[in-house]
Amino acid sequence: MKNLVFILLTFLYFTISHTEQDKYQKDRHQMVANQIAARGINDKNTLKAMRNVQRHQLVPQEQVENAYEDRPLPIGHGQTISQPFIVGYMTEIINPRSGMKVLEIGTGSGYQAAVLAEIVDEVYTIEIVEPLYKTAKSNLNNLGYNNIKMKHADGFYGWEEHTPFDAIVVTAASEFIPPPLIEQLKEGGKMVIPVGAPFTAQHLMLVEKKKDGKWKTKNLLPVRFVPFTRN
Ligand code: SAH
Repeated sequence: MKNLVFILLTFLYFTISHTEQDKYQKDRHQMVANQIAARGINDKNTLKAMRNVQRHQLVPQEQVENAYEDRPLPIGHGQTISQPFIVGYMTEIINPRSGMKVLEIGTGSGYQAAVLAEIVDEVYTIEIVEPLYKTAKSNLNNLGYNNIKMKHADGFYGWEEHTPFDAIVVTAASEFIPPPLIEQLKEGGKMVIPVGAPFTAQHLMLVEKKKDGKWKTKNLLPVRFVPFTRN
């Protein structure tokens, strides 16, 4: 009897939580169609991942209703979750596929990490603000992302033990490209990073490390990110 009650309750729990999640599925699909695909993002992996990740489960309670809007949102501690289009753009540019190992600097809400984790094999992500690290860790665990490894640290130094990375995604604006990150990028790998002084004109840049270890940069588009901070 006890077992039966347990099974019934489990069933009920999953039915209710599933219905709750699906409440935003339409919004999410519309977001991908209108904000992402309509603006030229056409990488299938990126679009599929963004259709899957429950952005509303990664934002603070008071932002849930705004989760699929076309703008960044505050996530506390003076930080923001990027506008969905920017996440799509940064994801597509590294050409993500299964088998890859990607490093992200600036976990924030965990949304970018989740989008990457839908596609690649391993995601490593670093956050400097401890409460954000803790919240993202718990939210990503609840959503079942077990291929994301997180740490609370200054991302300037990258994550030496897991080097080299096929790609690196930096989601806070730095005045220069941190040299340890270039070192930890695999030859042939790509890094995308906003570069510029805080609160002034910044540019999203693509860094490509060539087979001979040399690297070249390309200016992609003007952006506005929160600053890359140091401890
Ligand atoms: N990728 C995030 C965007 C977060 S905003 C998302 O999808 O929600 C940028 C984040 O970078 C902030 O949370 C900020 O605290 C963090 N950050 C800034 N400087 C950092 C550093 N040196 N190392 C690690 N994280 C940093």
